[in-house]
Amino acid sequence: MQVYDVSLARQKEYRVVFVAGLLEKVFPLQVREDSLLSDWERKLMSAGLTHPLAERLPRQSIERLFFYLAVTRARERLYLSYPHLDIEGKESLPSFYLEEVRSLFGERITVMRQNLARPYPAPEEAITRREREVAVLGALRHAGAEDPAAGGRFEKFAAGVCGDAQSRERILAALKPIEAELLDTRIRDGGYFEVKEASPTRLELYGKCPYRYFAEKILKLQDPSGDISAMQKGSVLHEVLQHYFDPKRKKDPRETTEAFIRREIEAGLEKHPLARGEKYREDLDRRDLFETLVYFLEQEDRRLKAGSFRPAAVEYSFGSEPGTAGPALEIGDKERSLKLRGRADRIDTDKDKKFAVVTDYKTSARFKAGALELGTALQLPLYLLAVEKHLGLTPLGGEIYSIRDCKRSGFYCEDHAASFGKEFTGRSKLPEAEFRKILDRAAAFARTFAKKMVSLEIPVRPRDCEASCPYDTVCRIEKWRLPVILREIREDLKEGL
Ligand code: SF4
Repeated sequence: MQVYDVSLARQKEYRVVFVAGLLEKVFPLQVREDSLLSDWERKLMSAGLTHPLAERLPRQSIERLFFYLAVTRARERLYLSYPHLDIEGKESLPSFYLEEVRSLFGERITVMRQNLARPYPAPEEAITRREREVAVLGALRHAGAEDPAAGGRFEKFAAGVCGDAQSRERILAALKPIEAELLDTRIRDGGYFEVKEASPTRLELYGKCPYRYFAEKILKLQDPSGDISAMQKGSVLHEVLQHYFDPKRKKDPRETTEAFIRREIEAGLEKHPLARGEKYREDLDRRDLFETLVYFLEQEDRRLKAGSFRPAAVEYSFGSEPGTAGPALEIGDKERSLKLRGRADRIDTDKDKKFAVVTDYKTSARFKAGALELGTALQLPLYLLAVEKHLGLTPLGGEIYSIRDCKRSGFYCEDHAASFGKEFTGRSKLPEAEFRKILDRAAAFARTFAKKMVSLEIPVRPRDCEASCPYDTVCRIEKWRLPVILREIREDLKEGL
């Protein structure tokens, strides 16, 4: 649905147009002469002037033109409406334009009076087949609640609708009671919510908002507005970078970086096809991928050449699944142990292979420093723990690398980073003890969240409520409460995780 004022809509056309607010003195606006300078006086004074004074009354014809423009935007159906009562509950006066339309078309116009308590159309309001079916169903479900005088009228109408075989089928199917049956054996037989090996991504999602985790991962509610192509493009970007920085890659000296990128994009798009209908849009996406990667790799190659760190591993995976590079990461003591599986986008090490920086690629994002304290940034610290435990490297920092603008943001150990001059700038440099505390705290958050996930604690209590979350109509969060919720969470955290 698009909402426009008439002047903006004048170059458009729509199947259905609603012209709302057709009230006297509202549409058309009441145009009066200026009380100080009448139109007649203006005309007199303007004689011989290069810029004459504007008269007021001719604006009436502009209002009429606006009405003409509004009603001619509709290709199939036009609704002209006005509120029956004004804000004080008094009966309102419809615009005289409505009278003019009535006198032009007379009985041929359907006049509807909307009953807001009735969510389905009355027989005389139903125009399309779908509306006619809904009208029959609505009246059947609320039999008796309507005006009894409508009975005869309705029967005739229903007989007409049910005479259509397709509509009859649909109405009968809608009236049939639904037998609910739980088919997923994992839920029926228990164990569905057990966490054998938790993933940092899921834990982080739970940390940000338990309800969003529930809707997305357990109920698997799909976001109808989700842009599949954007996700596919993200996957292609990740894969090209993975192959480019793979330390085991055998480089073809004759192949330029541009040629490598083009070849990899094509291979990536084969695996992750874009769901675009038109070819030109796919071409635009292809070009966007190419330009983003060329710019990113140019900058990144230059940075790596000047710095002390090099990619040592890409897509480093750990867990007990076959094919992973390292075992599951076990955190906690024997009594409260939790196994983690995951995949770090990139691990860079210094020349001596002593320190490690874990990188998480994002198409466009920044690391939020406050997220460490709230437990909504778990992936990077947990990957650093895995790198330390499995690869024997000293964690120096974790960063989010925004591919589009080539910006790194993250958190670093100040004492270790100091050995590398200005290579690690940014505000989130922490003394070693503090840095270690962050890693241990992430492990504690992971254990707490995993426990809550298993016991299905799903409160609508987000620590990081996304502005564009597709589940806001399901969770029904009142956004004004967000700062209050966050304050409560911070208070709880002071007393321990
Ligand atoms: S709108 Fe906010 S509270 Fe609701 S599910 Fe999404 S992230 Fe959670």
